[in-house]
Amino acid sequence: MTAEPSRTLLAEVDVSLVNADRVIDRLLEHMIQHEFPVSRTEAGGTVTFMAGEALMEKRPGGVHMRASAAHDAGLAYMKSIMASHLIEFAEGDRPEIVWTGHGADATVFPNFREMTVTRAEQTTPHMRRITLAGSDLDSFATGGLHIKLFVPPAGLAKPEWPVPGKDGLAIWPADDKRPSVRTYTIRRIDAAAGTFDVDFVLHGHHGTDHSVGSRWARQARAGDIVGVRGPVGRPVPVADWYILVGDETALPAIARHLESAPPNARGVALIEVADEAERQDIAHRTGIDVRWLYRHGAEPGTTTLLADALRTIEMPPAGASLHAFAGVEAEAFKAIRHHWRDVLNLDKKDVVANTYWRRGRAEGA
Ligand SMILES: Cc1cc2nc3c(=O)[nH]c(=O)nc-3n(C[C@H](O)[C@H](O)[C@H](O)COP(=O)(O)OP(=O)(O)OC[C@H]3O[C@@H](n4cnc5c(N)ncnc54)[C@H](O)[C@@H]3O)c2cc1C
Repeated sequence: MTAEPSRTLLAEVDVSLVNADRVIDRLLEHMIQHEFPVSRTEAGGTVTFMAGEALMEKRPGGVHMRASAAHDAGLAYMKSIMASHLIEFAEGDRPEIVWTGHGADATVFPNFREMTVTRAEQTTPHMRRITLAGSDLDSFATGGLHIKLFVPPAGLAKPEWPVPGKDGLAIWPADDKRPSVRTYTIRRIDAAAGTFDVDFVLHGHHGTDHSVGSRWARQARAGDIVGVRGPVGRPVPVADWYILVGDETALPAIARHLESAPPNARGVALIEVADEAERQDIAHRTGIDVRWLYRHGAEPGTTTLLADALRTIEMPPAGASLHAFAGVEAEAFKAIRHHWRDVLNLDKKDVVANTYWRRGRAEGA
């Protein structure tokens, strides 16, 4: 029996532009700098994303773009990325972009859904687990670990969500109805039951907590409604040896790695939390050493506990495949990236390291 060929979805657009050569060059150069594979041709080039491919070529009077992907969500993502970058590099008038082909008439983003809180429980003094219910969650069981959470302004009777425009970009509700967007990780999923859990760090102080995500989670009650876009990011990779590094914001992601590691997996997980009360029981392979590091009163985002501990750990034996993961505050990220990239020279394909939050700055600010 031959395998069914993967469905290819296509969208195209011709855009009038005066400086097409220059815009194409700058856009493709930008993609290369952000480490997307780009293959150049005389007329332009093709960018390869995780979701599919986007071609960009000079045509008389402007630029032709074609996006292709196996899934609706991937195609929508590429349409918006290509459109936003074209606008950014077009300099001057905003070019008119009207995609044709698959998804041209869509009135909602394919990977967006409204979800309802069904349960909220305190797992530790500073971590609150919220269970969300919604439809069509199968893609979350095998897809990326993360979601974008859309929190409507408090007190809004009927939440409003962004919808796709003809250019593939989001059209947002008016400012007083506009939801705020934050990034979270799915801690546990039950696709059959149509629910998943998200663990929220409660990082502000009760009463003066103006953080959108933390405040929402603190007050969430059954029946509350949020928007969710996802899955976002990569699924958990399989490796012989894991190095997992994070503060409490990455605890859900580290737990997902630990729970899905193969039986003989080895390595270490370094987890920074406030104190012993924030420690959680996480099922893990005996070959993975889970170490808890406590701030003992220091403010989150001010210690060097993780980077210091990282310099002392055992590295995998020759021939073992490695997965190194980090989700931390921006300063810790710099130190960890320096160690992995400049000191140990780890192969890029073995590393997923991200800034999960920035001290003193709201997400997206
Ligand atoms: C891929 C990814 C996955 C993530 N998964 C999770 C997750 O599963 N659970 C989770 O809780 N977080 C997670 N985060 C981190 C989360 O997105 C940020 O902490 C985000 O800033 C929280 O939004 P907020 O509205 O509460 O605070 P914001 O409005 O963004 O920030 C307001 C203020 O709070 C500060 N702040 C933000 N986070 C913290 C913190 N943890 N400790 C102390 N001060 C903070 C900011 O510096 C700022 O001064 C993830 C981030 C990424 C990139």
